[in-house]
Amino acid sequence: MKYLLLTIFLIFLEGISCSKVQKKQPIEKVRFLMDTVVRISVYDYELPERKIKKAIDRAFKEMSRIEAMTSSSIDTNYIARISKESGVTAVNVSPEVFSLMKNSVEVSEKTHGAFDITIGLIKNQWAFDSDHAHVPDILLIHSLLPLVNYRNIQFDHRKIMLTQPGMRIDLGGIAKGYIIDQGVKVLQNEGIKSGIVEAGGDLRIFGHRPYRKMWRIGIRHPREGEGKLIAVLETNETSIATSGDYERYFIQNGKRYHHILDPKTGFPARGCVSVTIVTKNALLADGYATGVFVLGPEKGIALIDNLPSVEGVIMYTKGDTLKHVVSQGLRQNIHFYPDSVLGTG
Ligand code: ADP
Ligand code: MG
Repeated sequence: MKYLLLTIFLIFLEGISCSKVQKKQPIEKVRFLMDTVVRISVYDYELPERKIKKAIDRAFKEMSRIEAMTSSSIDTNYIARISKESGVTAVNVSPEVFSLMKNSVEVSEKTHGAFDITIGLIKNQWAFDSDHAHVPDILLIHSLLPLVNYRNIQFDHRKIMLTQPGMRIDLGGIAKGYIIDQGVKVLQNEGIKSGIVEAGGDLRIFGHRPYRKMWRIGIRHPREGEGKLIAVLETNETSIATSGDYERYFIQNGKRYHHILDPKTGFPARGCVSVTIVTKNALLADGYATGVFVLGPEKGIALIDNLPSVEGVIMYTKGDTLKHVVSQGLRQNIHFYPDSVLGTG
């Protein structure tokens, strides 16, 4: 099985500059969380280094806490309890889990169900996170499809219930974004003015970029090695998340099966190669990247253009040609390398 554990998709271009001015490097720390590399970079040069490092450690601690809170592989957290009690009873959850689930359902509503955290049961059939990922029996998938429906998540005060027995929650399409947001929150509470929290290519930038007007973020080519960029994005503080068909996948009988599933079919969504979303917080960027990927290029770009403060780039193929379409509000800020895309959608 071809299994890419992680791919750093977005690369900061901060260090790459023609300027001869001696620039201070950011203070950085890296950890492995959520099956991926998490990097915190601080560009605040006024605080003492010791204080910054302590703040970064606190941010990592908070991010580990949320990893445990959102993970599907821990069977004692609220997410597991909600799933276990599906069709039986409503579960009292923390306000934090309540609002994370609410936010997830809002993304479902905006994407007309393309993003759906009740994908859990079907995702488990594919076993993407294991060594024995395989195409499940199609009849089995069809029989499970009625158990994927965000409308069957019931919210009542502090309680959440999945109304159909067997339903399973999977926060894999949005948890990384929330974790990034919380990491940034800790850093800001610690008095840090400027930095980047990045997890497996999704990131949130806060504060001003030293030495330059804008931050520059490289977008990786979805079909070339990790080192090759397809475009560069210039931005102020924002969040950026990408969903791609090359991040977690296996090949069976010459066909690529990746981990972004269409809730309507239970099979990998086929319309896009990658979707990068740019918006204020990382939770929404992450959720919309997954949802827009499922919607495909046409419906996806229409949705992005309709959502205030959400921008994005969708890459897709037509025949053998890699194409892209960019939302209206991003066109001024994104620059594609001339030889990287053969056609423009
Ligand atoms: P990555 O985690 O690689 O950045 P995504 O943000 O697109 O990629 O998340 C993919 C994960 O989201 C899958 O591994 C699965 O846990 C979950 N998922 C898959 N399809 C959907 C969907 N249609 N809606 C919500 N979550 C999904
Ligand atoms: Mg996502």
